[in-house]
Amino acid sequence: MTGLLRGLATTGRTLTRRAHTARYPHTEPELPERSRGVIALLEDNCTSCMLCARECPDWCITIDSHKETLPAETEGGRERSHNVLDRFDIDFSLCMYCGICIEVCPFDALFWAPDFAYAEGDIRNLLHDKERLGTFMDSVPKSALPATEEEP
Ligand code: SF4
Ligand code: SF4
Repeated sequence: MTGLLRGLATTGRTLTRRAHTARYPHTEPELPERSRGVIALLEDNCTSCMLCARECPDWCITIDSHKETLPAETEGGRERSHNVLDRFDIDFSLCMYCGICIEVCPFDALFWAPDFAYAEGDIRNLLHDKERLGTFMDSVPKSALPATEEEP
Protein backbone atom coordinates (compact mmCIF):
# COMPACT_ATOMS: atom_id res chain seq x y z
CA MET A 1 0.00 0.00 0.00
CA THR A 2 2.85 2.40 0.88
CA GLY A 3 4.52 1.66 -2.44
CA LEU A 4 1.30 2.38 -4.33
CA LEU A 5 0.86 5.73 -2.57
CA ARG A 6 4.49 6.67 -3.29
CA GLY A 7 4.00 5.79 -6.92
CA LEU A 8 0.83 7.90 -7.17
CA ALA A 9 2.61 10.81 -5.45
CA THR A 10 5.44 10.61 -7.99
CA THR A 11 2.92 10.55 -10.84
CA GLY A 12 1.13 13.57 -9.37
CA ARG A 13 4.41 15.55 -9.07
CA THR A 14 5.39 14.69 -12.64
CA LEU A 15 2.02 15.79 -14.01
CA THR A 16 2.70 19.36 -12.94
CA ARG A 17 6.18 19.56 -14.54
CA ARG A 18 6.92 20.74 -18.07
CA ALA A 19 7.71 18.02 -20.61
CA HIS A 20 11.38 17.62 -21.58
CA THR A 21 10.51 16.37 -25.03
CA ALA A 22 10.03 18.68 -28.03
CA ARG A 23 7.36 18.23 -30.68
CA TYR A 24 9.69 17.90 -33.66
CA PRO A 25 9.19 18.82 -36.50
CA HIS A 26 6.78 21.48 -35.19
CA THR A 27 9.50 22.64 -32.79
CA GLU A 28 13.08 22.84 -34.07
CA PRO A 29 15.60 21.34 -31.61
CA GLU A 30 18.27 23.62 -30.15
CA LEU A 31 21.43 21.72 -30.98
CA PRO A 32 24.98 22.59 -29.92
CA GLU A 33 26.66 24.42 -32.82
CA ARG A 34 29.37 21.74 -33.12
CA SER A 35 26.83 18.91 -33.55
CA ARG A 36 27.79 16.12 -35.95
CA GLY A 37 24.87 16.39 -38.35
CA VAL A 38 26.44 16.13 -41.78
CA ILE A 39 29.84 16.50 -43.44
CA ALA A 40 30.49 19.71 -45.38
CA LEU A 41 33.09 20.01 -48.14
CA LEU A 42 35.12 23.15 -48.83
CA GLU A 43 35.94 22.25 -52.41
CA ASP A 44 38.57 24.95 -52.92
CA ASN A 45 40.71 23.42 -50.16
CA CYS A 46 40.54 19.85 -51.45
CA THR A 47 43.65 18.67 -53.27
CA SER A 48 42.21 15.21 -54.12
CA CYS A 49 44.93 13.64 -51.97
CA MET A 50 42.57 10.70 -51.22
CA LEU A 51 43.61 10.50 -47.57
CA CYS A 52 40.02 10.74 -46.32
CA ALA A 53 38.81 8.06 -48.75
CA ARG A 54 41.64 5.71 -47.76
CA GLU A 55 41.06 6.15 -44.02
CA CYS A 56 37.25 5.91 -44.11
CA PRO A 57 36.41 2.62 -42.37
CA ASP A 58 33.20 2.25 -44.39
CA TRP A 59 34.61 3.05 -47.82
CA CYS A 60 31.79 5.49 -48.37
CA ILE A 61 33.85 8.33 -49.92
CA THR A 62 34.38 8.30 -53.69
CA ILE A 63 36.82 10.74 -55.28
CA ASP A 64 37.76 11.28 -58.93
CA SER A 65 40.17 13.90 -60.19
CA HIS A 66 42.43 14.74 -63.11
CA LYS A 67 45.68 16.65 -63.47
CA GLU A 68 45.96 20.01 -65.14
CA THR A 69 49.14 21.80 -66.06
CA LEU A 70 49.50 25.51 -65.38
CA PRO A 71 51.93 27.56 -67.48
CA ALA A 72 55.06 28.92 -65.85
CA GLU A 73 54.45 32.15 -63.93
CA THR A 74 57.80 33.64 -64.98
CA GLU A 75 59.83 33.45 -68.15
CA GLY A 76 62.08 30.41 -67.98
CA GLY A 77 60.11 29.07 -65.01
CA ARG A 78 58.64 25.63 -64.74
CA GLU A 79 55.10 24.55 -65.53
CA ARG A 80 53.11 23.45 -62.52
CA SER A 81 50.55 20.68 -62.36
CA HIS A 82 47.69 20.39 -59.91
CA ASN A 83 44.74 18.09 -59.27
CA VAL A 84 41.26 19.17 -60.29
CA LEU A 85 38.43 17.56 -58.34
CA ASP A 86 35.86 15.95 -60.65
CA ARG A 87 33.86 13.96 -58.16
CA PHE A 88 33.59 13.86 -54.36
CA ASP A 89 30.71 11.75 -53.05
CA ILE A 90 29.85 10.64 -49.54
CA ASP A 91 27.28 7.88 -49.16
CA PHE A 92 25.42 8.72 -45.96
CA SER A 93 23.60 5.38 -46.07
CA LEU A 94 26.97 3.83 -45.15
CA CYS A 95 28.64 6.61 -43.16
CA MET A 96 28.85 5.95 -39.41
CA TYR A 97 29.70 9.56 -38.52
CA CYS A 98 33.01 8.60 -36.94
CA GLY A 99 34.68 11.83 -38.12
CA ILE A 100 37.93 10.14 -39.18
CA CYS A 101 37.78 11.74 -42.65
CA ILE A 102 37.53 15.20 -41.07
CA GLU A 103 40.37 14.55 -38.64
CA VAL A 104 42.80 13.19 -41.24
CA CYS A 105 42.21 15.85 -43.92
CA PRO A 106 45.47 17.81 -43.97
CA PHE A 107 44.01 20.74 -45.94
CA ASP A 108 40.93 21.72 -43.87
CA ALA A 109 38.51 20.71 -46.59
CA LEU A 110 36.00 18.76 -44.46
CA PHE A 111 33.93 20.01 -41.52
CA TRP A 112 31.02 18.94 -39.37
CA ALA A 113 27.84 20.93 -39.95
CA PRO A 114 24.82 20.63 -37.62
CA ASP A 115 22.25 19.98 -40.41
CA PHE A 116 20.50 16.68 -39.76
CA ALA A 117 17.19 16.84 -41.66
CA TYR A 118 18.21 15.08 -44.87
CA ALA A 119 16.35 11.79 -44.52
CA GLU A 120 15.26 10.33 -47.85
CA GLY A 121 12.56 7.93 -48.95
CA ASP A 122 14.98 6.40 -51.46
CA ILE A 123 18.30 5.21 -50.02
CA ARG A 124 20.10 6.13 -53.28
CA ASN A 125 19.46 9.80 -52.57
CA LEU A 126 21.70 9.60 -49.50
CA LEU A 127 24.68 9.71 -51.85
CA HIS A 128 25.67 13.39 -51.64
CA ASP A 129 27.86 14.83 -54.38
CA LYS A 130 30.38 17.65 -53.98
CA GLU A 131 27.85 20.35 -54.86
CA ARG A 132 25.46 19.17 -52.15
CA LEU A 133 28.27 18.70 -49.62
CA GLY A 134 29.38 22.24 -50.45
CA THR A 135 25.99 23.70 -49.55
CA PHE A 136 26.46 22.57 -45.94
CA MET A 137 29.45 24.92 -45.59
CA ASP A 138 26.94 27.70 -44.87
CA SER A 139 26.04 25.97 -41.59
CA VAL A 140 29.56 25.24 -40.37
CA PRO A 141 30.11 27.33 -37.22
CA LYS A 142 32.71 30.09 -37.58
CA SER A 143 34.61 28.64 -34.63
CA ALA A 144 35.23 25.43 -36.61
CA LEU A 145 36.69 27.16 -39.66
CA PRO A 146 40.42 27.67 -40.09
CA ALA A 147 41.58 31.25 -39.51
CA THR A 148 41.73 32.09 -43.23
CA GLU A 149 38.09 31.04 -43.75
CA GLU A 150 36.69 33.10 -40.88
CA GLU A 151 34.87 36.30 -41.73
CA PRO A 152 36.84 39.40 -40.75
S1 SF4 B 1 32.52 10.12 -40.90
FE1 SF4 B 1 33.66 8.14 -40.87
S2 SF4 B 1 32.36 6.70 -41.99
FE2 SF4 B 1 31.61 8.79 -42.48
S3 SF4 B 1 32.67 9.36 -44.37
FE3 SF4 B 1 33.92 10.12 -42.66
S4 SF4 B 1 35.42 8.46 -42.23
FE4 SF4 B 1 33.77 7.60 -43.48
S1 SF4 C 1 38.93 16.20 -48.42
FE1 SF4 C 1 40.98 16.47 -47.55
S2 SF4 C 1 41.78 14.38 -47.24
FE2 SF4 C 1 40.01 14.24 -48.63
S3 SF4 C 1 40.90 14.31 -50.69
FE3 SF4 C 1 40.32 16.40 -50.15
S4 SF4 C 1 42.20 17.29 -49.25
FE4 SF4 C 1 42.49 15.06 -49.26
